[in-house]
Order: sequence, then structure tokens, then C-alpha cells
Amino acid sequence: MSKSVNLYVVVPCYNEEAVLHETSKQMLELFGEMKNDGLINDNSRIVFVDDGSKDKTWSIIDELTKAHTEISGIKLAKNAGHQNALFGGLMTVKDDCDCAISIDADLQDDIHVIPDMVRNFIDGYDVVYGVRNKRDTDTFFKRTTAVGFYKLMQFMGVNIVFNHADYRLMSKRALDGLAQFPERNLFLRGMVPLVGYRSTNVYYDRNERFAGESKYPLKKMLSFAFDGITSFSISPIRMISAFGAIVCVFAFIMAIYALVQKIIGHTGAGWASLMVSIWFIGGVQLLSVGLIGEYIGKLYKEVKRRPRYIIEAYVNEKEKEDDK
Ligand code: UDP
Ligand code: MG
Repeated sequence: MSKSVNLYVVVPCYNEEAVLHETSKQMLELFGEMKNDGLINDNSRIVFVDDGSKDKTWSIIDELTKAHTEISGIKLAKNAGHQNALFGGLMTVKDDCDCAISIDADLQDDIHVIPDMVRNFIDGYDVVYGVRNKRDTDTFFKRTTAVGFYKLMQFMGVNIVFNHADYRLMSKRALDGLAQFPERNLFLRGMVPLVGYRSTNVYYDRNERFAGESKYPLKKMLSFAFDGITSFSISPIRMISAFGAIVCVFAFIMAIYALVQKIIGHTGAGWASLMVSIWFIGGVQLLSVGLIGEYIGKLYKEVKRRPRYIIEAYVNEKEKEDDK
């Protein structure tokens, strides 16, 4: 049998006092089973990241770490937001583990596919995406907006995994890859596919949040979606140019139409020139804005300073290093 894996599960928590006891209980049970099966080793950990909670979240985490050696805690100085808390947790643990799984605190994502994720890791996958089978438990509104969001992202040319949120396993080297992304505006489900390496999906049914309220109210959700699109795609800028071009074509048709009207004498004084100039100037303005947008788009890509590539393997290089 293969060597058991040193697994870290990273759980961002914001005002999660209502769920932490149950979540840790279920996760510890699962850890026990996975240890018995020889899947994970004794150094494996569940790491709760307190994202500046205002309730008893941190004192509960503190208690849990004292009662169970498998549990550790990280406390952020203030609320940094889900994506930042998750990234911070992953970056903190990446050098201690073979692979890390990120999961929400509320058990909406079925923890029982964790062994499958780990098995896929053992089989050589660096990234294992948790993908939701069905979303019956979400409200109709959340379901439709979510589908709309994934479709829109794909339409904008952003490579994201359909129905995957932030429930995923990443190997240490995939985390090292992720660490090379220096951007401040995090949208992890868009960034992880950019890292590369071999990836696969595991499927699960999404449960209801068993206690507490969603920490993603509509306003936060919309701003997250907007951030996702504008951090990954310059398509909206391109759309301005395209729209400008369409308006220019209309201006041309309008010019012919106005000319014909003028020739057959159907127009009042000034009508034709007014119509043509309004359309023409409108088209030219949109095209110009789009053109300026192209340059801003280039700037936007440059200021991100994303890694151009991530190296997967060296051949012969390792020996050189060992000789040193
Ligand atoms: N969360 C966080 N910081 C925040 C908001 C949320 O760490 O500012 C955590 C939250 O505790 C949970 C996860 O992010 O573990 C997802 O939030 P939630 O379950 O409320 O979102 P939903 O499932 O409703 O989209
Ligand atoms: Mg949730």
C-alpha cells in the first residue's frame, strides 16, 4: 500500500459559533476513519481560520485545539473576506502538508468525498475539484443566479469549473504555484485552473447549511461575481469596441437613409445632417473608448504580475542541485 498522506483541511470561519462543534465532530470522525484506512497519517490537521469573527468563533477554535491534537487554529487580525482568509490559511499550511483541502465551515459541502479526493491525489492528481451534482437545497434564486454566473464567466472566456466553488484539494506543488500569483483581488476558482497540473473532479450533493446564516448576502455575492469577471476578463472592454463598430455600421445605414429622404424631399431642414452626425459621433466615441480600454486592458494584465509559467519538472537539473 502507498504511504499515507499528510493532509491539511483548511476551513475559513466568519461568525460560525453555531456550526463549529458539529463540523469539528464530523471532521474528526472522518479523520479517524481515514487514519484507520491508512489514507492519511497522524500529522494530518484540521485548520480553522478565524476571519475576524465578532462572535465566539475564536474561543471555540481555541478550546477545540486544546481538546484535539488534530485541530489547529489561525486567527486573522480583522475580517479579510472569505477568499483572503482561505488563501491565508492555505499559504500558512502549504509547507507542512502533502496536500490541502479547502472547505466551508457549514458542512454544505459533503465531507464524505474527502477520502475520494485524497485517493485521487495518491493517483497523481494535483488538483481535485469538488463539483456539486444538484443544488435542490439552494433557493431557486441562488440556483438560477449561480447558473447565470457560471455561464457568463464561460462566455467571457474565463476558465472555471462549472458548479465548483472553493471545495477542492490541492497538492503542495499546486499550492506553491498558487503562491506565485501576487494579485490582491483574489478569485480562487479562476486562479487555480491557471496554475495548471493534472486535475480531476469529484461529485457530491450540496446540503443545506445546518445552522447559522449565509455569510454571503446578495450584495456580497454580486460584488464577488463582478470581481470575478473584472479580474479575469477584458471582454467587457472588447464589448464596447464591438458595440461602437455596430453603431458605426448603423450610422452608415442611417446616412444612406437620410440621403434618400433628403433627395425625395421628405425631411425638414437640418434633419438629415443632425441624424447622421449623432449616429456617427456616437459610433466614433464608443470605438475610441473601446480603444482606450484596450490599453487599459493591457495595463491591467501587466499590473497583476501573474507568473508567466509554472514549472512542473526539471530533467537533470536536480542532480546539479544535489552536487552543490
Ligand atoms: N467566510 C469567511 N469570511 C467572510 C465570509 C464568509 O471566512 O467574510 C466563510 C464562512 O464562515 C464559510 C465560508 O466562508 O465557512 C462560506 O460562507 P457561507 O457558507 O456563508 O456562504 P454560502 O454557502 O452561503 O455561499
Ligand atoms: Mg455555506
